[in-house]
Amino acid sequence: MSKILIIEDEENLARFVELELKHEGYSVDIKLDGRSGLEAAITTDYDVILLDLMLPELNGLEVARRVREVKNTPIVMMTARDSVIDRVSGLDHGADDYIVKPFAIEELLARVRALLRRINIEDENSNGKTTQTIVRYRDLAVEKENRIVHRGDEVINLTKREYDLLLLLMENIDKVMSRSLLLETVWGADSKVETNVVDVYVRYIRNKIDKEGTENSYIQTVRGTGYVMRSK
Ligand code: CA
Repeated sequence: MSKILIIEDEENLARFVELELKHEGYSVDIKLDGRSGLEAAITTDYDVILLDLMLPELNGLEVARRVREVKNTPIVMMTARDSVIDRVSGLDHGADDYIVKPFAIEELLARVRALLRRINIEDENSNGKTTQTIVRYRDLAVEKENRIVHRGDEVINLTKREYDLLLLLMENIDKVMSRSLLLETVWGADSKVETNVVDVYVRYIRNKIDKEGTENSYIQTVRGTGYVMRSK
């Protein structure tokens, strides 16, 4: 049974949507503010999250952003404001879809079904004849066999060296990797390049994977030593 989380402070609307979703056979939880919604979204594995934009405690954009740091749960943003800016920023913050209030319940159900179908297709693909090993860190996912890097739904294009360097760091979470070790592993033991090439490549990767305005980079610098990706 698919599990759906509704984060919505208009209780009547939340109850109405809950009733309709339960009628369709889904299991449903409701949270009435952003903070408790975020906590539920992180601690429980939901298949879809329906997220209101204007919420007490923590707004919908912030909830989406923080969920995305740790999970890929599909998010449908429910917004009363039908402006392009809101849609764009909702999608930028990690929402997969949006629906404008007031909406017809059939439309919402159709969106939910579409997102669930997409997850099932992804599952089937990953159970196909080529098994994909997926390495994850926050909202980054690396498909090792395909050599593809995703952040949420977005594919991030990396060069071969950038990819090798990122994967090496992601497979050694919490281990501080020295510049010389990174250089030796990615460029080869007898390579003639200087260790500062590692810094240059880390900067290239950061430019591609870090979100604009993010103060904590995915890859952290350990001064005088090298780099690390930390689990916390
Ligand atoms: Ca609201």
